[in-house]
Amino acid sequence: MISRRPTRQIKVGNVAIGGDAPISVQSMTNTETGDVEATVAQIRRLEQAGCEIVRVAIPDNEAARALRPIREAISIALIADIHFDWRLAIAAMEQGAQGIRINPGNIGGSEKLEKVVSAAKQHGVPIRVGVNSGSIEKDLLDTYGYPTPERPEALIESALRNTRLLEKQGFYDLKISIKSADVLTTINSYRSLSQQTDYPLHIGVTEAGGLIGGTVKSSVALGILLYEGIGDTFRISLTRDPVEEVRVAYELLRSLKIRERGPELISCPTCGRTKIDLFGLAEEVESFIQTMQSPLKVAVMGCVVNGPGEAREADIGVAGGHGVGIIFKKGEIIKKVSEEQLLPVFMKELKKMEEERRLDGKK
Ligand code: SF4
Repeated sequence: MISRRPTRQIKVGNVAIGGDAPISVQSMTNTETGDVEATVAQIRRLEQAGCEIVRVAIPDNEAARALRPIREAISIALIADIHFDWRLAIAAMEQGAQGIRINPGNIGGSEKLEKVVSAAKQHGVPIRVGVNSGSIEKDLLDTYGYPTPERPEALIESALRNTRLLEKQGFYDLKISIKSADVLTTINSYRSLSQQTDYPLHIGVTEAGGLIGGTVKSSVALGILLYEGIGDTFRISLTRDPVEEVRVAYELLRSLKIRERGPELISCPTCGRTKIDLFGLAEEVESFIQTMQSPLKVAVMGCVVNGPGEAREADIGVAGGHGVGIIFKKGEIIKKVSEEQLLPVFMKELKKMEEERRLDGKK
């Protein structure tokens, strides 16, 4: 059983972060933010996948101006990601950003930071203090060295120092992230930081890589932290369509029994007994169930001999045979259809089951 580390709670738009709020899923667009149409289209796909907070890069004024029409066209919380330019941070808040991510140490000095903080107070906008291994101040690197799993202090000190800069101005509406591309450094840094502050933590592995490498690195680091009750919101960072980040995030939450969203696919790896194109079938079913909301367990198994039995815990499943496929519910066979008909008939059964659950008042 996971016991969450107690943290304060903040709100980004309507999304509560920290305290007893559900651990929220974030992603970041990779469109040009100034291209409102493309950015809104991507955010809507993220919304459908279950993303709750989306961050957009604000490299220039055009991007800052785009925030207003973007926010009006979406229904999830919108965060502006700012580097170096305090004016952009203020413009982003004026244009409706519901949160900003900055590194207070590189926003242009204390006077500029004061202006940013005063705008954040005025607009009720929380700030994420986002520190990366690559952005640590030189004096901290000289003292502690580049962060490693054994010595992550530079990262932690940088985050705490930047947090204090905001606190000095009476600003506490904060969450903190300390990102490293290294799994062990990430784990040890957040473990240590979580003992030194009760601000909510945004956790993640930065520059994690492509779908497989990035998923493994993020799942190991964030899986361990979440299991230890550390982390209030997170992003899986992948060199992919950001929708994949959200899918991986929910699989991670589901695997730890923290949150569920939509059906879970159980599929066998295939073996010498498989007589149908199971990879193709599993892919079609996986893509179909992305559109469903119920937390059903859906099995796709290679053979009739072992399939239904092995997937007994599934709510509904399909198993391949010689030129036929069978459909089963809770391990019991309910239908036998030709291989060509298998997918459409199975999809119909899936929809039927979801409808039955809806009528029963289940999700
Ligand atoms: S379900 Fe059948 S085909 Fe799939 S791995 Fe098990 S025995 Fe092999």
